[in-house]
Amino acid sequence: MKYLEGTGTIVTGASRGIGRAIALEIARRGGHVAFNYLHSDEAANQLKNDLEALGVNALAFKADAGDLKVVREMVNEVKRSFGRIDALVNNAGITRDKLVMMMSEEDWSEVIRINLTGAFNFSRAAVFNMMKAKRGAILNISSISGLVGMAGQVNYSASKAGLIGMTKALAKEVGRHGVRVNALALGFIETDMTAALPEENRAAALNMIPLGRFGRIEDVAPMAAFMLSDAAAYITGAVIQIDGGLAM
Ligand code: NAP
Repeated sequence: MKYLEGTGTIVTGASRGIGRAIALEIARRGGHVAFNYLHSDEAANQLKNDLEALGVNALAFKADAGDLKVVREMVNEVKRSFGRIDALVNNAGITRDKLVMMMSEEDWSEVIRINLTGAFNFSRAAVFNMMKAKRGAILNISSISGLVGMAGQVNYSASKAGLIGMTKALAKEVGRHGVRVNALALGFIETDMTAALPEENRAAALNMIPLGRFGRIEDVAPMAAFMLSDAAAYITGAVIQIDGGLAM
């Protein structure tokens, strides 16, 4: 069903992994997609082509989510090109896992800058358009690491817990203007990010997942598209776990 037909959505960090899957799902539902990335030019071009092959408009930007000036320029360009911004998915994220006594100030600040400030930057730049249109949806891609905390991820857990706080505060701020703000708290999803984990950590995690398997990007993308749609019109400030039951 093309329930996002004609809408315009920004997905951050979509050249690979979960962001790419969400962008494609939105396009399958008829929505136009603008996305950014940081390094992967070839993958970004591929995604742009794949989106256009689904019959929607696609815009790709090599733009650092952590840089407000660059983000503002991108959002303005999307507004000019699509004529509307209905939704924003704050997905761009990185890990720099280390025990706290080994964690440099840069490991801390880069993770916070991209994962948390990046979401602030895009929300700050896009939300006024949504409020003016009295319609909009923001979806923040958080993690169960932000709900329960994970050893070796002090920086990442803080950034993802911060996203949950931001989700709820912004939902309260803009709800009366017709803008909904929600979060997905993901468990282990098979992407480049989790492929980088040491095998013993993967085995330990798998052991704790009631559904007995890691998640796939296909387990996330349909829920993300649903949360942006009018079918979710009465959902705001929610944190929806997609984790195979890991953090219940
Ligand atoms: P991934 O495979 O490592 O992909 C990360 C994406 O973010 C890439 O497209 C990357 O672009 C982009 N990106 C990184 N830094 C950026 C920046 N400064 N500006 C713009 N784009 C940037 O990660 P993933 O597993 O798909 O994760 C996506 C989101 O889900 C992240 O927020 C992550 O924290 C969250 N999450 C993932 C899991 C999991 O198990 N995979 C679990 C919980 C939450 P380049 O290709 O150019 O580097």
